[in-house]
Amino acid sequence: MQTIYDGIILGAGHNGMILQAYLGKAGMKVLTIERKAVTGGGLATLEDPRHPGFLHNTHAFFQRAITAMPWYADLELERHGAHYIEPELNVALLTKDGGVLGWWTDIERTVRSFEQFSRKDADTLRRWQHEFVPIVQNILAWEAKSPPLPPGERQRLLERSAAGRRLLEVSALSPLEFVQQEFEHPTVRAGLLFFNGLREVDLRVRGFGHHIAALLASPAKAQLSRGGTAALARALESAVRETGGEFRLMTEPKRIVAEGGRAIGVETTDGEFTRARHFVVSSLNPHQTFLDLLDEALVPAEIRDRANGFQYNLLAPLFALHLNLREPPDYTASTKYPELARALMVIMGLDHFDQFGDIVRHHESGTIPPTVMWGACPTVFDPTQAPPGLHTGFMWEKLPYRLRGNPDWSGVGEEHGRTMLALWQKHAPNLADAVMDSFTRTPVDTERSLPNMREGDLLVGAFTNGQIGYHRPFAGAGSYRTHLPGLYLCGSSCHPGGNVTGLPGYNAAQVILADHGLHADWMPPPIADHLAML
Ligand SMILES: Cc1cc2nc3c(=O)[nH]c(=O)nc-3n(C[C@H](O)[C@H](O)[C@H](O)COP(=O)(O)OP(=O)(O)OC[C@H]3O[C@@H](n4cnc5c(N)ncnc54)[C@H](O)[C@@H]3O)c2cc1C
Repeated sequence: MQTIYDGIILGAGHNGMILQAYLGKAGMKVLTIERKAVTGGGLATLEDPRHPGFLHNTHAFFQRAITAMPWYADLELERHGAHYIEPELNVALLTKDGGVLGWWTDIERTVRSFEQFSRKDADTLRRWQHEFVPIVQNILAWEAKSPPLPPGERQRLLERSAAGRRLLEVSALSPLEFVQQEFEHPTVRAGLLFFNGLREVDLRVRGFGHHIAALLASPAKAQLSRGGTAALARALESAVRETGGEFRLMTEPKRIVAEGGRAIGVETTDGEFTRARHFVVSSLNPHQTFLDLLDEALVPAEIRDRANGFQYNLLAPLFALHLNLREPPDYTASTKYPELARALMVIMGLDHFDQFGDIVRHHESGTIPPTVMWGACPTVFDPTQAPPGLHTGFMWEKLPYRLRGNPDWSGVGEEHGRTMLALWQKHAPNLADAVMDSFTRTPVDTERSLPNMREGDLLVGAFTNGQIGYHRPFAGAGSYRTHLPGLYLCGSSCHPGGNVTGLPGYNAAQVILADHGLHADWMPPPIADHLAML
């Protein structure tokens, strides 16, 4: 007899698995259906088939504050094998003239680094950091780990406290306006925009002016996973299996089946139907969930239109150059700044914040901008990612998904990889003799590998078009519930969005358990009660 599950999740990325583990802990029997042969989604580490022993993290690498995430402790992921490293020099921006702007885990060291560029900017940095610590602690961190409130209610609650009013005031700006208004030195401006926002938000969009101040004040810095990013996927999979959760790999859903106006199971492309007693949850994007997997008759026209209109980030797609190395990069600037040898993220090609406008214009026209890139040499911190004595390195660059209107990168990738390597060698001349092998990945490869990252958007949905908070992915599907009873969402197209935060999965777990009359002691108090007490 076929098993009937309490619930079925589509997609075994980290959000799907975090949700599955929490539901399993609550006593539910949950199956996840995944098209790939491995779990993890963006938590991917590949062994180079030509050079065994060299591991490459082809999607996520820099993970912000994973060890401080509530699910990391709740699911006891260290017991399941996860281990994180947080280098003290978190980010270093190398300027054309041999300077280094450093971002340390210790704010005082960051302030000292900024002083080398502008004393005034260093003072401003300290002032904003100081002012925003309570705002981050008491408001933003809570909002990220809670199902979002309707915008009107959120505004009303925030207006009741001084911290809430200040947050509303600062967020009315765009990150670009914030930086131009508050900081003076072009490299400091460029560095702040890059360290703190470039990946997450469109820097031109109003409503995100608080973003940089919040990240200045956040204790959350970049960490790397020992053994490669996929080690977190293995830990999550182990936590899920411990609760009795199951995975069906190399299996694609064909349609979400409904009966009597409720989602009741999933039919797969191999013709099998699996029944879910209580719910189906999709960690996929709105196009997949509402347009590909639901029969048209099950989706009202206005929901179809909204799913169709869901927008992806123009500026999120990445091009990657991966290297197998005999030795790590030895930066010329490290003669003056020896600490550079142990910098986690290194940024090159960025000297002036005006370059952002140029990058945006190139993305709009589908052309390749002058190289601004960032990356790391993971093996400096984690030797397990290469054979003994050898190393890996990678650089990413924001490049358009469509080149002159077409998602066709044939013949361009290798050549562009050489352009990136040339810039890297300018800063680290030893790379001329250190590269054993290399490969590149384009924004189109991202979409082929993970089709939920449509148009190469690794954040699975822009934060423009009203696609934030209560209305992410769109009005009528926010808060992890959909128009169809029994069908929920839990992926990065939900609040608080993409990157490895696990919070869409964590929040979806709160909603689904509450809808089934279950309460667990890990759940935070309702966000409205918390904000009302400020
Ligand atoms: C090049 C690159 C670099 C990145 N760097 C970072 C970084 O440094 N730090 C960071 O935090 N984030 C980074 N990200 C982003 C991060 O990987 C994603 O935001 C994150 O993985 C999203 O998690 P998720 O669980 O929502 O979705 P995913 O991780 O994408 O998981 C979704 C799962 O669904 C599966 N799936 C898709 N379609 C189907 C289908 N039809 N049927 C069944 N299963 C399906 C996929 O195979 C996948 O396993 C990067 C991404 C890329 C591409």
